[in-house]
Amino acid sequence: MALFTVFGSPIAHSLSPQIQLEFADQFGLVNEYRRSLSSPGRFAADVAYFFRHGGSGANVTVPFKQQAYQLVTHTTLRARQAGAVNTLMGRGAGQVLGDNTDGLGLVADLRWHLAKAQVGDLSGKTVLLLGAGGAARGVVGPLLDAGVARLTVANRTEAKAADLVDRFADSRLAYCSMNELPAADIIIQATSVALQQQALTLPANLAAQAVLCYDMSYGATPTKFLQWAAANGCANCLDGLGMLVEQAALSFALWHDGLLPDSRAVITKLLERNTNE
Ligand code: NDP
Repeated sequence: MALFTVFGSPIAHSLSPQIQLEFADQFGLVNEYRRSLSSPGRFAADVAYFFRHGGSGANVTVPFKQQAYQLVTHTTLRARQAGAVNTLMGRGAGQVLGDNTDGLGLVADLRWHLAKAQVGDLSGKTVLLLGAGGAARGVVGPLLDAGVARLTVANRTEAKAADLVDRFADSRLAYCSMNELPAADIIIQATSVALQQQALTLPANLAAQAVLCYDMSYGATPTKFLQWAAANGCANCLDGLGMLVEQAALSFALWHDGLLPDSRAVITKLLERNTNE
């Protein structure tokens, strides 16, 4: 039985085990997938221990994605672009490959929702990205590749937004202060405020002008950001469940020689479960 885990802090809320076991089931595979609570001081040792003791692959979530990038021995191009890693694969003899599937997962989910709402594609849209942590870093490259017309990054610590923008030589990409947010077609909430039961303070007119507001956080009840977006007139308010499943599908494919699971079937199943709970 192949062993997988997800490293994070907090981690009890993570749906990754459920999602990965659903994927395995689609192919008749029986895997074990755990949750591993770690800490910044222990993270490198925890990862090394996991791979030394039979681990095949792991996901990495808040707040370890940038730390994970520093400790892997090999990286994919998209991980290097992001400087952050959400997927680890053991290669034996202490070697670990780091990949980043967050961005392609987000793009897949955004495209699906834009098509459903009949409001065009990502191509040509303006985007405001709130946050510059591990998750935000992973999505900048794939959003640019998807043809967005402008991507503005705003972060509480502005220097980190500037640093992220500097990684890409692209005139469509800029950063701004959290106090001077520009209107955009799509607003993506990529900070960890929801995990801290906090909320960003945002001007109401931004929501009214957006065709879609997307919170990377997810849960049974709408996040404060999505409540703000709906209350201020945005018609399409979505949480990060679809992104979570889409990025997980790409991690699964990396670990299983390219086997790509049916992610929409799993999203539907999880949504039904939420409704029934
Ligand atoms: P990190 O810890 O790497 O980054 C945290 C980010 O949130 C930073 O930009 C930080 O700003 C900002 N932040 C934290 N607290 C506050 C606050 N009180 N006010 C304003 N900004 C704040 O986390 P990740 O980037 O890995 O994860 C961010 C979120 O995205 C998490 O909720 C995570 O669950 C979610 N996520 C969802 C995914 C999905 O598939 N749906 C995938 C990946 C992440 P600063 O730089 O100033 O500290």
